[in-house]
Amino acid sequence: MKPVDTKYVIIIQCDIAHRRCSGFACTNAFYDKEEIFEKYGDDIRYISFTCGGCCGKGISAKLEHFSKKLRSKTNIKKDEAAIHLASCMVTDNHHYDRCPHVDYIKDIVSKKGYKNVVEGSYISKNAKSKREKSIYNSY
Ligand code: SF4
Ligand code: SF4
Repeated sequence: MKPVDTKYVIIIQCDIAHRRCSGFACTNAFYDKEEIFEKYGDDIRYISFTCGGCCGKGISAKLEHFSKKLRSKTNIKKDEAAIHLASCMVTDNHHYDRCPHVDYIKDIVSKKGYKNVVEGSYISKNAKSKREKSIYNSY
């Protein structure tokens, strides 16, 4: 899907990281169109929620709820939504290493009909530098 077609951006955060993080940096990066969000236009809706906790199974019900609202309250289609798996889920970072359940979560997201899945959200400069120096793992 071309980025221009995206009408809704959903960031799925690691539930464990979210206990210590308000999600501010991700939201800020989205609205400031930083790095991975650079391609998106100005009129895109945005929401973030967590995976629901290990093993990520809870994302199924959350996406089901989101899909119902998307259908009843908007005219936006699932293929016009982009799902970002937050950096705290997909990278080695300050909190911990990449989530061991990423593939499982991706399968659920795909089964729920969302095909536009992107790995990453806000990128911490410090964590990026540590990945470049191999202090943190890279994927
Ligand atoms: S990537 Fe960072 S800012 Fe975004 S939700 Fe995860 S811990 Fe919070
Ligand atoms: S399933 Fe992964 S992303 Fe979700 S809480 Fe557990 S470690 Fe974090």
